[in-house]
Amino acid sequence: MSDASVRRMSDASIRGMSDAASPHRLPDPVMILGLPVHPLTLVQAVAHLRAATGRAPVTVVSLNGALLMRALRDPPVREAVAGAGLVIPDGIGVLLAARILGAPVQNRLAGVDLAEALCAAAAGVGGTVFLLGAAPGVAEAAGARLQERFPGLVVAGTAHGFFTPEEEPALLERIRGAAPEIVLVALGAPRQELWLHTHRNRLGAAVLMGVGGTLDVLAGRARRAPRWVQTAGLEWLYRAVRQPWRWSVIKTIPPLFLIALRERLRPRRPSRSAPGTAPPQEK
Ligand code: UDP
Repeated sequence: MSDASVRRMSDASIRGMSDAASPHRLPDPVMILGLPVHPLTLVQAVAHLRAATGRAPVTVVSLNGALLMRALRDPPVREAVAGAGLVIPDGIGVLLAARILGAPVQNRLAGVDLAEALCAAAAGVGGTVFLLGAAPGVAEAAGARLQERFPGLVVAGTAHGFFTPEEEPALLERIRGAAPEIVLVALGAPRQELWLHTHRNRLGAAVLMGVGGTLDVLAGRARRAPRWVQTAGLEWLYRAVRQPWRWSVIKTIPPLFLIALRERLRPRRPSRSAPGTAPPQEK
């Protein structure tokens, strides 16, 4: 998403659409292999999150194929994803699995786009954000850049993502003390999802989102794929070529399609509840 389009969305249009998108009641998620996915547009997702009050924080998970596979075999990760308030389909792997299963998830919503749009919308009302994660200096640089792009946004605090378990209580206290509305957490998946699931009620924020490499992108330390590559569904390939260590994660994804295919071909017994019955989610 270009700066211009995010800025356009940050003013009257996004506030107007907040009402039009009736954000207060999230439609039931689509279930993919037992995990919830909310196929919202960017505007609907922002509207939903802007309506979060903070009494019960909304945790946002950006689900890609690798995280989905991890959740299928790792119960704590599965619990963190299934327990999130909003799970966006951030990855072509999720869309392909949905297609195999005949589940209605047509469009990708990239976490980096949602994080930017959320900051843009918050800026319009002097909203506050805390940026946690990435290498030392990156969150500060991302915060400065966000404030330049979205005047009005208050960066309530930043911290790098290489803290020790001993440092964690003070970090939690610092975030809570900064009283941000939004906390963006870039610790890599699935660590950030597990961390947010564990600490979601200690942070005092309305919206908590795991954002992976987003702070590096916002800080200008990493580049996103060109628009046409994103549109072609090949952003994963672009990242893998630039960061070859990602192949070890990407090679976990093909079995996902076999699992989805097996699930699709499995005979259904009408009396049994569907395998993807919605789990309890944050309210
Ligand atoms: N990171 C961190 N602490 C850690 C491990 C990773 O802050 O202990 C950061 C890392 O510097 C990077 C982000 O987490 O900024 C993960 O980015 P990546 O692109 O790997 O995440 P993905 O989008 O693939 O989940």
